[in-house]
Amino acid sequence: MAYSKMVKPASAELIHLTVLRTQRLAPHWIRVTLGGGEIGGFTPMGYDQWFRLFLPIGGEAGLERVPAKANKALGYLKFLRIPDGERPVMRNYTVRAYRPATPESDAEIDVDFVLHGSAADGTAGPASRWAETCRPGESVLIIDEGLTFNPERGTDRVLLVGDETALPAIAGISASLPASATGTAIIEVPSDEDALEFPRPPGLEVVWIIRPHGTAPGELALATLRDTDLPSVPFHAYGAGEQALASGVRKQLVGERGVDKGQVSFCGYWKIGAASPASKAAREQAAEPLA
Ligand SMILES: Cc1cc2nc3c(=O)[nH]c(=O)nc-3n(C[C@H](O)[C@H](O)[C@H](O)COP(=O)(O)OP(=O)(O)OC[C@H]3O[C@@H](n4cnc5c(N)ncnc54)[C@H](O)[C@@H]3O)c2cc1C
Repeated sequence: MAYSKMVKPASAELIHLTVLRTQRLAPHWIRVTLGGGEIGGFTPMGYDQWFRLFLPIGGEAGLERVPAKANKALGYLKFLRIPDGERPVMRNYTVRAYRPATPESDAEIDVDFVLHGSAADGTAGPASRWAETCRPGESVLIIDEGLTFNPERGTDRVLLVGDETALPAIAGISASLPASATGTAIIEVPSDEDALEFPRPPGLEVVWIIRPHGTAPGELALATLRDTDLPSVPFHAYGAGEQALASGVRKQLVGERGVDKGQVSFCGYWKIGAASPASKAAREQAAEPLA
């Protein structure tokens, strides 16, 4: 049976939110909690629900100029017409946790940002830098994108593989699986302290891999996957993280180990040397040697 690749969001409207607070979780992790604004317009779906995030890098006025459907081809072209310097930065992030409104407080969304590069020497991306420096009260915009992990492809037995950028997604998936689910999660992170524990079904084993400095992201996760026994069929496999890791998971499972491609969900989350969203031109430019 063929299942659709993605699960669509309930609504793809622009949603205005504000930063409520931030919390440093580990050397490479900062949690930004969003809420207020139009949080009532957000429909939580669990699993690896992700969204486009528009950050007010050039000032909050730029957010007001973001067109509807800025995540689609035509809307994105309109978005690009916002002048440089005023145009918000658009990036992709995951709902790490959603807490519904209570009589005491409004609903909230936690977003866990990987801190990469260094703000001091300019190698951090704008989203990573923003997360490190944003303040309560700042505005952002989001557009819900739904799920990549389609639960119709199976939730009883799973194989989840990712680098640190996919840890929020794997944690979200684990929180949404039935308590009886079994399987393995292989997660590669840059340090021991960055291996943030998360609630999961007792039958889901987590294999943490600490990536030594200088090793390409995803390389060790793929090697570990090669040595991992696959769950009994049918199972749902999920690969996310650096582009070569996500596509490597699919290639290894489908090409070498005979897994049905309809049972593998995968998504390249970022690409070494290319800012997101990586256009073909930007990728080609990034591949050129530095002068
Ligand atoms: C569906 C989806 C969900 C995602 N969810 C999350 C999430 O919840 N948390 C999260 O942290 N990320 C998540 N990501 C990944 C995130 O969108 C990218 O890492 C993004 O490039 C970060 O933007 P930036 O502005 O910091 O860096 P960019 O401007 O995009 O890139 C600048 C430079 O930094 C490098 N770079 C980008 N990301 C990393 C990284 N993680 N490690 C090392 N170098 C990097 C690039 O190769 C480039 O050279 C998700 C991506 C997708 C597609």
